[in-house]
Amino acid sequence: MRTRRAALTAIASAASLALTLTACGQSGEGGSKQDSGSTKGATIGIAMPTKSSERWIADGNYVVADLKSKGYKTKLVYGEDDPDQQVSQIENLITQGVKALIVAAIDNKSMNNVLQQAKDANIPVISYDRLILGTGNVDYYASFDNEKVGELQGGYIVDKLGLKDGSKKGPFNVELFAGSNDDNNTRYFFQGAMKVLQPYIDKKQLVVRSGQTALNQVTTLRWDGGTAQKRMDDILTSAYKSQRVDAVLSPYDGISIGILSALKSDDYGSKSKPLPVVTGQDAEVASVKSIIAGEQAMTVYKDTRQLAKVASSMVDAVLNDKKPEVNDEKTYDNGSKVVPAYLLTPVSVDKANYQATVVDSGYIKESDLK
Ligand code: BGC
Repeated sequence: MRTRRAALTAIASAASLALTLTACGQSGEGGSKQDSGSTKGATIGIAMPTKSSERWIADGNYVVADLKSKGYKTKLVYGEDDPDQQVSQIENLITQGVKALIVAAIDNKSMNNVLQQAKDANIPVISYDRLILGTGNVDYYASFDNEKVGELQGGYIVDKLGLKDGSKKGPFNVELFAGSNDDNNTRYFFQGAMKVLQPYIDKKQLVVRSGQTALNQVTTLRWDGGTAQKRMDDILTSAYKSQRVDAVLSPYDGISIGILSALKSDDYGSKSKPLPVVTGQDAEVASVKSIIAGEQAMTVYKDTRQLAKVASSMVDAVLNDKKPEVNDEKTYDNGSKVVPAYLLTPVSVDKANYQATVVDSGYIKESDLK
């Protein structure tokens, strides 16, 4: 890039020379600016983790639509939950000459080399929803308040069990599930939930009969529902022969559906054995239907339309030598730098407010819930 810049500079007029120098100066500081005026009609690369979850399909579509409305072209790829595949997809996007990258990583620690290639090609990188770790070559982070997501899930459990208002004292049995250990969000979600649950566990008002309470005992590789179902099966067999589980902390709707399948196979949901309070995240259609049917108790709605807007505005700003809007410059240290972030607010959704939150906002069509 520097060589290309040098060549361009040699033939540039005095005016564009000044511009180029300005761009170079900023590039030296921020590390990833484009030449002014070169962004119109530029192609932006978007790397999403998987099509196996509805939310990521929606994210991809919204980001594409937003960038198009701003005059960009797009290349959207899905890594199908295979970190190596995602890295080579990003390498291809760089080779194809994208001017910026929006990346929702599968494995947050697998990106060092490929993001160095991006940096060398002067391509700015927006970390989308999941923070990329261990590299300085991430310019901005667009996400939700991830700890708050966990607080909403944990808070829902203590509220529904009657512990929060003191109307019930317990003890109640709870089991804990977390997301994929290679996703940075996982520890934020878990931390947020445990902030609420731990005091009740300490007072023995909540009991984790499996004994599995440490994050590394409760993660679910690649957020896989089948893996969670199997773990719930095992827990029910080993720890609940004569006891009943009253609540299950689940970090994501796909995992919640797996957990509910295990519970139903063990006769939960029958008259004599009510389903526990099962949380979730993403307001996926299958889970909102499950909430309406009285099975899953809640989900956390994160408006991906807003997230897509934030990410595409960040790209547009960076490519036009402007500073994107951020609202958090201290929370998200990726081990190499604190990545400036824009964090949106997650919303708790259950049977009482799904209509007002996800339907009335147009996030889910009423007809899809029939
Ligand atoms: C996202 C969640 C999602 C999970 C599984 C996380 O990184 O923040 O919204 O439920 O991945 O796809």
